[in-house]
Amino acid sequence: MKIGILLGDDIGHEVVPECVKVMKAAAARTGLAIEWQPLPIGRHGHEQHGNTLPAVTETALRKLDGWIMGPIGHAAYPRNDPTWVMPAVRKKFELFAAARPSRSFPNVASIHKDVDIVFVRELTEGMLYSETVVAGAPEFRPNDDITVAMRVITRKGASRVAREAFEIARTRKRKKVTAAHKEPVYRLACGMFAEECRKVARGYPDVAFEEAMIDTISMKLVMAPQQYDVVVTTNQFGDILSDIGAGLVGGLGLAPGLCVGERQAMAQATHGSAPDIAGSNIANPYAMIMSSQMLMGWLGRKHADAQATAAADKMLAAVEQVVTQGRHVTRDLGGTASTQEMGDAIAAAVQ
Ligand code: ATP
Repeated sequence: MKIGILLGDDIGHEVVPECVKVMKAAAARTGLAIEWQPLPIGRHGHEQHGNTLPAVTETALRKLDGWIMGPIGHAAYPRNDPTWVMPAVRKKFELFAAARPSRSFPNVASIHKDVDIVFVRELTEGMLYSETVVAGAPEFRPNDDITVAMRVITRKGASRVAREAFEIARTRKRKKVTAAHKEPVYRLACGMFAEECRKVARGYPDVAFEEAMIDTISMKLVMAPQQYDVVVTTNQFGDILSDIGAGLVGGLGLAPGLCVGERQAMAQATHGSAPDIAGSNIANPYAMIMSSQMLMGWLGRKHADAQATAAADKMLAAVEQVVTQGRHVTRDLGGTASTQEMGDAIAAAVQ
């Protein structure tokens, strides 16, 4: 496997090395050979090559199977300079789905117990931006009193995100996909999304399928989230639902993520670069480590590679053990461990 290491900014320099450490421990146990490629991005990319996404990084990424992307501290970048922007990696590499788990642990304060959901959010269309709009954005203002926003749904976009959700569900115990939409109101847009989900569902008879209205599921997630396993939805609905998911189980430090394309995937935690705590070795590496665990699992599925799948299972077991024991966890989880101590404990727990 060829995997890139992109540290990102601020706490990225602390949490990314911990997840590489845990991946290396798991790969060593299963005999999986990984070729690592460190690449500049963000502030370092700009310092070294004059751009937050240097050409050298973009070219190298095209040859990789996947990469780990640290958080980007874009909020502190100089304004009005196109070389100082959030690197458009998702768009350039057509990463079309974001998988975001929401998982509770008995010893970590959370609103509900026994939550274990993966939200799968479409990333390339909807109201936010669309590959189908060749110039401009799907929003415009014909005069100062009116703004028109369009929502673009395509069969291709809906179908591929649904497929990813079913593939993920297949690897889980409960094997259930819930498609969240509001077809009775948004008949054509949500209608097309729902139709494509139903078509994909027919190819996965081993996975249960249900549909839920976006407003109803928002309420049920807050009241009884245990009934959900994998929830798939469109871009903007997914943006909101996955943050509800993070809130259900203890916040951003516990919110990993994987951005998925046809051929490549990117491990990227939901949290930002947390400049307020950068450099103090207290950032929680959980989200970054679990993001790389998801990357490992995805690589195992994509390449039918049993060693990668086994490595992902080992990473998951190690993280569960350390977080559940609660002895080597960072202060946001109620412990006293440093970022590095928590990473060391998880790497040591890989069996
Ligand atoms: P962005 O706009 O880049 O997504 P954000 O506005 O979501 O960033 P973060 O950088 O994620 O902001 O930080 C929000 C708060 O959460 C800060 O107080 C930060 O210290 C805390 N935080 C974020 N990530 C972690 C982490 N891994 N461990 C501990 N605390 C964290």
